[in-house]
Order: sequence, then C-alpha cells, then structure tokens
Amino acid sequence: MKASSKFDYIIVGGGLSGLHLSYCFNNDKYFNNYSILIIDKEKPRKHDNYFSYWEAGTGNWDTILKNKWDKGDFFSSKGKVKMDFSDYNYKTLSSLKFKEHVKKKIKKNKKFKFIVDTVLKIRQENNEVVAVGNKRNYYAKHIFDSRLNSSTFKKIKNHTSLKQHFVGWVVKTNKKKFNKKSFVFMDYRIRDKNSTAFTYVLPFKKNEALIEHTYFSKDECNQELYEIYIKKYLKKYYNISNFEILKSELGVIPMTTYPFHKDSTKNITKIGTAGGWVKPSTGYSFKNCEKNSIQILENIKKARDFKIVPKKRYFFLDNILLGVLSKYNYRGEAIFYRMIKRNSTKKILRFLNEESTPLDIFKIIISMRSIYFIKVFIQSLFKRAL
Ligand SMILES: Cc1cc2nc3c(=O)[nH]c(=O)nc-3n(C[C@H](O)[C@H](O)[C@H](O)COP(=O)(O)OP(=O)(O)OC[C@H]3O[C@@H](n4cnc5c(N)ncnc54)[C@H](O)[C@@H]3O)c2cc1C
Repeated sequence: MKASSKFDYIIVGGGLSGLHLSYCFNNDKYFNNYSILIIDKEKPRKHDNYFSYWEAGTGNWDTILKNKWDKGDFFSSKGKVKMDFSDYNYKTLSSLKFKEHVKKKIKKNKKFKFIVDTVLKIRQENNEVVAVGNKRNYYAKHIFDSRLNSSTFKKIKNHTSLKQHFVGWVVKTNKKKFNKKSFVFMDYRIRDKNSTAFTYVLPFKKNEALIEHTYFSKDECNQELYEIYIKKYLKKYYNISNFEILKSELGVIPMTTYPFHKDSTKNITKIGTAGGWVKPSTGYSFKNCEKNSIQILENIKKARDFKIVPKKRYFFLDNILLGVLSKYNYRGEAIFYRMIKRNSTKKILRFLNEESTPLDIFKIIISMRSIYFIKVFIQSLFKRAL
C-alpha cells in the first residue's frame, strides 16, 4: 500500500455496490498488489434494513441470512398463485450484517484503506483521475463511482421512469401468527386502486415478520398512507391489531430505462444505482451488484472496457413492462397476475436474474397476451424508427 493519497483504484461509496466490488477485489489474488481506497461520506450507520434476492443453490451470503424460503404466495383480487422457489430460493439478510461481514474481511487486507469524506466531484488530470473531497484530493488510475448526481435525476425524467417506494415494519406479535416457511411475494388485495401497489410479507419467526407496503408509481406518498395499509393488512389477513414495531424502513428506488452506463468514461466507471445496476422492472439490485462486480474484475483482467452494458434482450422486456406500468399504472395487478399465473416461477426468476434464453423471454411476452403490452410494444418500435 502506497502511503500517499495515490491509489490504483478508488471506490466512491461504501454502500451495497461499493462493498460487493470491494469483496470481489479482496477475494481475487490477481489484485494482491493493488491499492484500493474506499471513500464514504458517512461513518457506518447503525440503521438496519433488509436486502432480499433469489439465488439458485448456495451462495456467498448463506452464513448471514436472516431467513430463506422455497415457497411463496402471490395474491390478487383474481385469485392466489402458489410460487415454487425451490430452484431459486428467496433469501433475506440484514444490511448491517452484510456490511459488517464484508468490512471484517477486507479490513484484514492491507490493500484497502477507508476514508470518511464527501466526494464533491471527480475529474480527469493527465493520466490520472482525481476524486475531489471535502477534506483533500485523492488520485487513482481508475475510479468506481456510486454517487447519483442531481443532474442524473433531471436526465432520468426524459426516460420511462417510475419509483419503487415503500415503508416496511418488522413487527412482533403476542401470538404465533406467521408461517415461517412461506412468504408473500406480492399481495394486491388491499391497495390504492389507481396505482400498482401491493403488500409484501417476510416471516422471520412465527411471531415476527417484515411487512411492507410498496408502490411502483411516479411519486412517493405521505408516510401515513403506507402505514394505514400495513395496519389494515395485518388486521384483515392475520387478525393482528396489537404488535410491537421492532424496526422500520423506508425506501425510494428508481425504476428507469435511463442508460446509466453511458455516464461512465474510460477511467471512471459508475456502479450501483448510478451504474444502472437496479433492475428497471423490479427495483432489485442485490444480485446484480454481486454479478456485475465479478464481471468488472473479469473486464479488468481481460483488458476490456470496465463498465457493464445492459443486455438488449432483457432491456427489451424491462422497457415494455416499465412502459406498461408507467402508462397504465392501475393495471399492475393484472399484469403481474398474468405473468405469474402463466409462467413457472423458475422462468420468471431466470428473467429477473437476467439468466433467461431468448426463447424464454419470447414465451413470457406471448403469455402476456395483453392489449397494453401490444400498444407499448408498437409505440416503442415507432419511437425507435424515429
Ligand atoms: C430500505 C431499503 C430496502 C431495500 N431492499 C432491497 C432488497 O430487498 N433487495 C434489493 O435488491 N435492493 C433493495 N434495496 C435497494 C438497494 O438498497 C439499492 O439498490 C442499493 O443500495 C444500491 O447500491 P448503491 O451502492 O448504488 O447505493 P448505496 O447502497 O446507497 O451506497 C451509496 C454509498 O455512497 C455514499 N455516498 C453518496 N454520496 C457520496 C459522496 N458524495 N461522497 C462519498 N460517499 C458518498 C453513501 O453514503 C452510501 O454509503 C433497498 C433499498 C432500501 C432503501
């Protein structure tokens, strides 16, 4: 490790993507002699939330999971669909546990240095890139940057975009009301009828669960509204009105077709949300952060462009799904019901994990047989022709 503020790589942001990337650098002997600086504007916070993802077989984070499920339910006013997660288990872990776990591993490795500073801008200077911090400047051959700039938010508005916004409570009940072995993937039975909105339940114990009310829509709601829906849901489907809130979380995640990868340059690679690692049609990013970090290391070793470019075939379906949800937001319940009812859970999860074959994607599109899909599809062809 060099004593100066010059590094091989700088990672701006020790959040989800920055830590996944650091974890990969830590595990790969090829990078043993590299110096890596991680800069974050905040000291590690104590606030906890839960990250969920699905995965075939065993994975890197199995030792720190809060729970995992091989079955789940989808509910809509049209009926219930049982979902089989035995091929791709649905897994949940605490954000704090994840951060502690990664940091414990990389702190033992001398190639890493952590600094708390706010990066104000990043600029190219001759053959180096400079992260201009509040306290000082940091130099590197390459910078991985997870900051979302305000200018990006403005640009996102010109693309098909929604927000996934939600409030979640981890509740503890007096009676054993939850089935720890099965979770609720989406429940549309109680919701604002003008929006794509649903409840999501992750039971951790028989008397403890994370329950979230989520929207895929243009704008956030008043916090009270999500809470009203959570309370109604607990009362109606579990007959629970007395409970303790152990933890609460709220989130706003961009769902957009904005081409984030174009914001990267030769020496600055945008990562995480800022790199387009959030799946546009779902708002999930945990698995993408893991897979894209592995891909970045491969790109470096093979002297390819570092950045991750979305694959066209996934982008195509994401674009249509997001387009439909954006134009006909109240139709979300019917769209997801059709998709989940007419395709195996495995096929859907393979698509969401970007592991599908083109034939699978074609089958999902055909299964939708929706006038709204066809309309948006034709409009997207028309836009392209322009
Ligand atoms: C409550 C909640 C629950 C979620 N649940 C899930 C889930 O179940 N599954 C899933 O896949 N995704 C989930 N997400 C989404 C997921 O957390 C994000 O997509 C993910 O964190 C994006 O990673 P990131 O590295 O881009 O951003 P972050 O994890 O937010 O990390 C960015 C880091 O950069 C730092 N930073 C920002 N600006 C600067 C600056 N100027 N200088 C230095 N440092 C800076 C921040 O302090 C932060 O630590 C959830 C999000 C929330 C809020």
